[in-house]
Amino acid sequence: MNTECSICHCETCELTDIRGQLYCDECAEIAEGEGYMYLASPYSHPEAEVRRRRFDAVCKAAAKLMLAGRVVFCPIAHSHPIHTHGVDAIDHDFWLRQDKPFLDNAECVGVLMLRGWDTSVGVIHEIGEAVDAGKQVIYYTPSDFDIEEM
Ligand SMILES: [Zn+2]
Repeated sequence: MNTECSICHCETCELTDIRGQLYCDECAEIAEGEGYMYLASPYSHPEAEVRRRRFDAVCKAAAKLMLAGRVVFCPIAHSHPIHTHGVDAIDHDFWLRQDKPFLDNAECVGVLMLRGWDTSVGVIHEIGEAVDAGKQVIYYTPSDFDIEEM
């Protein structure tokens, strides 16, 4: 029997079943609510291949969270395909403005801790905004989603 929360993976005996998935009290509120998780992850890197791998990794994480019953918005999944059409991938201020309304309206923030997450200007900003707004921040390791980092 599964004894961990589908969203945060905490282990507690007080799990609630919602649509066939099990959640801790804190995440049950999220699973029942209308809100979405803003899934942050590091992206900017001078090498395009590293950016592409980071994009693939966070898409995999988003897919698994969605399959676990979570509503997810993932800014990198959204912006990586767009930047190939003439938008600078590493223009921080540009993407800050694009992402801000989605971050502001998110119910909670997930952080996919790919290598470099703790020095990513974007991720640090996103965590700071979430904490300031009193939002739950949930940290995921790549292995939570069977992501192997190269
Ligand atoms: Zn939970």
